[in-house]
Amino acid sequence: MGALESDRLTQGPEVDAFEKEFAKAVEAPYAVSFSSGTAALHAACFAAGVRPGKTVATSALGFVASANAPRYLGAQVHFVDIRGDWNMGMADAGGAYALIPVHFAGFPHNSLFRMWFGGVVIEDACHALGTRTQDGPVGNCANSDFTCFSFHPSKAITTGEGGMVTCRIKANVKKLRQFRNHGFKLSRGWFRDQAELGMNYRLSDIHAALGRSQLVKLPQFIERRREIAERYQDELEGVVKLPPSDPHHAWHLFVIRHPERNRVYEALRKQGIICQVHYRPIYQNTFYKHTGSKCPNAEAYFAECLSLPIFPSLTDAEQTKVIKAVRDVV
Ligand SMILES: *Cc1c(COP(=O)(O)O)cnc(C)c1O
Repeated sequence: MGALESDRLTQGPEVDAFEKEFAKAVEAPYAVSFSSGTAALHAACFAAGVRPGKTVATSALGFVASANAPRYLGAQVHFVDIRGDWNMGMADAGGAYALIPVHFAGFPHNSLFRMWFGGVVIEDACHALGTRTQDGPVGNCANSDFTCFSFHPSKAITTGEGGMVTCRIKANVKKLRQFRNHGFKLSRGWFRDQAELGMNYRLSDIHAALGRSQLVKLPQFIERRREIAERYQDELEGVVKLPPSDPHHAWHLFVIRHPERNRVYEALRKQGIICQVHYRPIYQNTFYKHTGSKCPNAEAYFAECLSLPIFPSLTDAEQTKVIKAVRDVV
């Protein structure tokens, strides 16, 4: 309520507080908020110097926004195939200027990016708030230049729409803040100079206030997601192929695989169970056909994948219904 009664509805004290609290939660020195995860990725690419003539490598398996962000800046995208944990492999990204690895489904991408890759690293952690790698919480940028998060309602915490970029270098904070506010240089008094072509990607104080109250609940949200995942693992063992597991998994998605995926999808939908396919390899979209990419592991995954309902408010009875439906159909 404070945010609605305040005279600063945007870029006020709630935004500052949310950024500080978020940075603390993921053990990053700095966090800059945005109006969406896509805006966060776009801004990180901008701050990283992604521009025409550069190539950015990202996973073939993920949401289109990870590829679109470098495209907004005129760069080319190179799609990399996935490995056994469904995260992108590291061997094929050598020549790119920047790398955008995705912590797929919330499974920590444990690669030491810095050891393998000399360019800029922008982690897409939109699935992975609450996850840890061997270097600490995802978002601390121990092994990258930027980490991007989304607060879309399907994600670990939500502001309705919203996003965040974390980083370790103060000069990058300035670039990110300028970019989200039309490219205006930060200044005092009335004088304003637009030094770059930026956007209006600001998060409002109203959204930030929501984010603050959600962030406090993050540990319990993750705990509940882990509980649901554990039960799926116990009760669907030997029934369908189960997803790779990790003690620090954030379980944004719980993806089963079955050779007759479409039949399973139809049967579940008929019972009113919301299941979904995440994702078609990005390069198969019309817009990316021209890349001529071919990633056999991502295609084999796509042929069989189905995401079962997993969110903190899913009840035990609802989960029982999902498990029974899957057992019955296969
Ligand atoms: C949700 C998501 C995004 C985009 O976030 P929005 O807040 O919806 O713009 C980007 N990448 C991945 C992997 C996502 O899951």
